[in-house]
Formats: sequence, structure tokens, C-alpha cells
Amino acid sequence: MNLIEEIENITDKCISCGFCESVCPTLGASQYNSVFGARGRVILADFALKNPDNDLELGDSFYSCLDCYACVNVCPAGVNAGVVSELMREFIVTGERGKKNPVAALIRESIMEYESPLGLKREAAEWADGISFQKSDTVIITGHMYQMMPYTRAINRIRKHIDESVVKNVASAMKNHISLIKLSRHFYDKKLKENMDADLRNIVAMLKKSGVEFGYLGENEPYPGMFLYDLGYREDFREYAGRFYNFLKENGVRRVITVDPHTHDLLLNGYPEYVPGFDIDVVYYTDLLDLKYRKFNDGITIQEPCHIVLHNNQFRALDILNSITDVSMPERNGKLNMCCGGPDELLFPDTAKNVSMQRYSELKEKSENVVTICPLCYNNLAYDSKVKDFSQFVKEMVID
Ligand code: SF4
Ligand code: SF4
Repeated sequence: MNLIEEIENITDKCISCGFCESVCPTLGASQYNSVFGARGRVILADFALKNPDNDLELGDSFYSCLDCYACVNVCPAGVNAGVVSELMREFIVTGERGKKNPVAALIRESIMEYESPLGLKREAAEWADGISFQKSDTVIITGHMYQMMPYTRAINRIRKHIDESVVKNVASAMKNHISLIKLSRHFYDKKLKENMDADLRNIVAMLKKSGVEFGYLGENEPYPGMFLYDLGYREDFREYAGRFYNFLKENGVRRVITVDPHTHDLLLNGYPEYVPGFDIDVVYYTDLLDLKYRKFNDGITIQEPCHIVLHNNQFRALDILNSITDVSMPERNGKLNMCCGGPDELLFPDTAKNVSMQRYSELKEKSENVVTICPLCYNNLAYDSKVKDFSQFVKEMVID
């Protein structure tokens, strides 16, 4: 089946009932512009493919989809508008139609050249300065996610004052002088960097205390390629994932410990599809924790990560939190979970902000204390100090 057939195979099932719009976070965040909602994306894709001579605007509708997969869980026909968006991005980047996103193209270039979306491979290892790791065939893979957030936050602060067309022109120009991306190392949110570095150190400390033996590849650890996968550069991803896998094999790695849901989902489900013979075990760090905890009496609510609960993955994080305190689930949870907006942070910061504000209010209705289990969620929802990453909250509860 070619790409167009693959997309039509999904869109043809749509009965246009609109149920998916009730859960799609980007629809409300875009003032109900229908092409920024789940049904609109499916209709737009279907129309564009069946009418190849049209000059419809293709691009932002699909790039702005969060890939959260909330839509498929309410669709009576089993249509996943998130997958339609992913495939349409591939259609745009590999074909002549549709507007390619210059920021996405810049990120692609940086990953292929520097193995880091912002050219920050060396900086991504700073959190581990002074920590000693064992030599082991199990390694922690950070996926650079905790480390990237302070930079994206600072860059977005600057972007707020610049017209989007200028941002796109600058991104296009930088793509041809890719070393300039390394200038991003000068722009980061200091407080957030301290928090994110501390979170990674907390994870390492808890794993060690649980008796887990593992190494870390430091500044040699490449970014695993999630943006290539998500932004439609699937052929580049195939090549890049092969490189990443070979790198792990050359270093004798047999098992990886992931610390964020996006990297976990990618290595667990994306890599086996794109890398023939992928034979590395993937385990989420929360599932290796074997610790004793104090009780937290005030209760919490949690932001579940879409890439776990909506992408059909599992982890033990919720069991751990339930053993520590009363967890009040937000109105939208489990298969109806609402995304934090994080995946739009780099390409559509305004949409990301609108989604996160709505989700923050919903969470706060349940409890003052919010625990996130993903660095993107933390970055997007930490509007006050009572929002904590799982690694921070749980580490504070560990009995020494
Ligand atoms: S819920 Fe499913 S069938 Fe209904 S409009 Fe959305 S994608 Fe189409
Ligand atoms: S994956 Fe999420 S953001 Fe994308 S269309 Fe579905 S509900 Fe909307």
C-alpha cells in the first residue's frame, strides 16, 4: 500500500459525526477553527488527496496535531486523526504539495547533522557532571527531553515578540547555515534548567537506591530522532534510527532505561517497525523503582502522559503514587486523557500555551498538588510550584 492509499484507507471510514471534536485539544485552542480539530484534519486530508488539482492550504492543520490520539478513543469508526496527521506530514515533506514547515525542516537538519534538535548534544549531558555510573549492558537513555525544555522555553519567550513570518524566514535561512543553531545554547531558562537537571539526578539516585545497575553514554548519547518521526521525515528516521541502534550495539547495550514517555514509546514501538532485528529491551524507569515511601497527606492529582495512556503503553507510576497518597483523577483521564499541549511547543507555541492553560485549570479543580510524569507536561503545566515532576515528588517521599 502506498502512502496515499494508507491515508485514504483511514479517512474513508470517517462518517463525519464530529465526536472526535469534543476531545481534540487543538480545536478549542485555535478558537474553533475546524481545520485545527480532529474531524477537520480527516476531512481536509480526504479532500486534498481525492482532488489532486486543488491548491488547498495544507500544512499547519497537520503540523499542529499533538499526536495525542484522544480522538481515536471516541471515534465510532475507529479513525485516528492523529495518525492521519502524521501520514499527511510525510505526504507534505516527501511531495510537491502542501506547505513544508521551515522550523520543522531546520530541526530535521540539526538532528541529521548534530544528533540533537537544537545542536545541544554536549549540553544535554551537563546534568550528569560529577555522577559516577557503572559499566553495564543496561544504560539510561535520556532522549534529551528534560534537557531541551529550558532552551525551548527561552526561545519561545523571544519568539513571542517576533512575527511568525519572520520566524519562518529566519528558520529557512539558518537551515543553510546549520552551525548557527548551536547559538541556541546561549538561550535557556536558568531556573527550569536547574529543575530539569535535578529531576534527572533524582531519577538516577532512585534507580541506584533500588539496586539497579546501569551506565550512561554521556555526551555521546544521540537524540533518538523523535522529531524526525513525528514531523513526517520517516525515511530520514529510518536511516537515523538504524544509526542509533548501531551505536547502542557498538556500546554493548542490551537494555535501555527510558525516563520520558515520548522516547519510551518511540523505542518500544517505533524502532522495531523501522529497524530490522531491533533486539534491545526497553523499560520505563518507574517500573524499576523498589523503594519505601513516606505518606503524603494532602492528596494530589496527576497529568497522565498521552504517550503512555493513549498510545496503549503501560507503566507502574500510578501504583507508586497511589501507595503514597490519595490520587484524585482529573475529569479527563485514562482513555479520555487531555494532552498538555507540549508537542506543539516548538512549532505552534501559542496553541501549546492555550492547551496547557485549559489543562492546568482542569487539574487545579481537583487538587492544588499536581504531579506530571513527563518533562513536556511539566514544562507546559508548571505555572506554580505545587506542580511537580514525578521524579521530584517521589524522591521527596523516599524513606532514606
Ligand atoms: S469521530 Fe471518527 S467518524 Fe466521527 S468525525 Fe471524527 S474521525 Fe470521523
Ligand atoms: S491526535 Fe490529538 S490533537 Fe491530533 S487530531 Fe487527535 S485529538 Fe486532535
